[in-house]
Parts: sequence; structure tokens; C-alpha cells
Amino acid sequence: MRLVLVGPPGAGKGTQAQFVASHLAVVQISTGDIFRANVSQGTPLGKQAKEYMDAGDLVPDEVTVAMVKDRLGEPDVKTGFLLDGFPRTVPQAGQLDDILSEFGTKLDVVMELVVDDSEVIRRLSGRRTCRSCGHIWHVDFDPPTKEGVCDNCAGELFQRDDDQPATIQHRLEVYYEQTAPLVGYYAERGILVGIDAMGPVDDVTERASAALRRFTHS
Ligand code: ADP
Ligand code: AMP
Repeated sequence: MRLVLVGPPGAGKGTQAQFVASHLAVVQISTGDIFRANVSQGTPLGKQAKEYMDAGDLVPDEVTVAMVKDRLGEPDVKTGFLLDGFPRTVPQAGQLDDILSEFGTKLDVVMELVVDDSEVIRRLSGRRTCRSCGHIWHVDFDPPTKEGVCDNCAGELFQRDDDQPATIQHRLEVYYEQTAPLVGYYAERGILVGIDAMGPVDDVTERASAALRRFTHS
């Protein structure tokens, strides 16, 4: 199964990706996570990406696509993957199609998480991420037992620099301008599935699983 999750920042892509990828037994590839790891390790890629990320802008397509192409060439991707946060522009989507056809394969399904802007702002404002295992928490909607500490691995939780109010607003604008057109791109190709991503995490996971079942059995 080769799957893409699309939706505004804070829609719950990373949260659902963790369940869906493990359910489908495919690797999760999150471009935001890869960029953040490179920034914190101070690699040349991280240095290129940092100023865009801090501003809430997209990293240029050529940098992002080259990174994803490398990742998709690795052996663990052969049996399938779930892409979270990529593609984010129509040119990225076209280049992803080209890369996959070079590898003799193609996308099976693109799942759009549909959520209101006001909910996105609530979700992003309280997001906390584990520095060790990457698990995503929320201070109100999915709080860890002990503030600042991951229940899964006792790692330290941090708030992303780009989850500040002004940057959140800008990232939403960037989403509607540059990423939302992907919905039409994939609908035209007949591989788009939209799900209601409002409501509790478990309900969204159930809707995502049901949509995938319908899609794979149709
Ligand atoms: P994205 O990857 O789309 O940016 P995340 O998965 O990181 O979004 O989720 C953003 C925040 O919203 C996180 O703090 C997460 O715990 C929380 N969250 C995710 N899904 C839900 C939901 N269905 N209800 C409430 N909070 C949620
Ligand atoms: P995310 O973790 O998906 O919210 O991504 C965090 C940031 O990483 C984004 O705001 C962008 O600056 C950058 N980024 C992640 N994925 C992409 C992408 N596909 N194209 C361009 N920039 C990206």
C-alpha cells in the first residue's frame, strides 16, 4: 500500500499516520520530522531548511523532492509507505509521480483529513512532541500523565518553534495557497478519499480505517 496523508497543519496527519502505518505495516515517512532531525543535528540539509521552517514557509521543492527521492530509494520502502507532509505543492506531486514511475510503481490512495481552521489552531497551540520517540501529545486533548514527560518512553516533550500563533496563521495561508490544490489534483486521478477529521482521535482513526477498507475493497 502506497499512501499519502494530506490536510492542513494540525489536522492530525502525524497522529493518524502513527496508527495507520502500523496497522498497514508500512513505513511512515514524515518530511517535517526528517527536516527537524536535520535541523537539530546541524546537517547541511538542516541549515538549508531552517529559515523556511522558522518562518512557516515551505522548503523549496528541489531540496524537498531530492530528500524524498533518496528516502524512497531505501529498502524498507519496497513493500509500501505512508507519506505524511509530502507532497505539499502540485509540482511536488508531479515529481512524486515521476519518481514512483521510475521505480515501477504508483500511489494507491491519498487521504485528506478535513478539519475546521479554528480546530487546527486549538490543536497546534497545545501540541507537544516527544524528543525521543516522536509521539505526539496535546496538553488538553491528549495530555501525558505527567506534564512534559512522554508516557511511552519517559522522553522530554517539547513545543515546536513553528507552533506560535503568528506562524500558525501563516502556515494555514501557505496551506490554502500551495497545498490545498492537491485535493483537486488527486481527485482527478480518482485516488482521493476525504474523511471528517473533527472529533476525538479514536473516532478519526476508525473513520480512516473504514475509508481505507472501502477503498482497497472497491
Ligand atoms: P499534523 O501532523 O497534521 O500537523 P498532528 O498529528 O501533529 O497534526 O496533531 C496536531 C495536534 O492535535 C497534536 O497535539 C495532537 O495531539 C492533536 N490532535 C490530533 N488529532 C486530534 C483529534 N482528533 N482531536 C484532538 N486533538 C488532536
Ligand atoms: P510539518 O511537520 O509537516 O508541519 O512540517 C514542518 C515544516 O517543514 C513545514 O512548515 C515546512 O517548512 C517544512 N516541510 C515539511 N514538509 C515539506 C514539504 N513537503 N515541502 C516543503 N516544506 C516542507
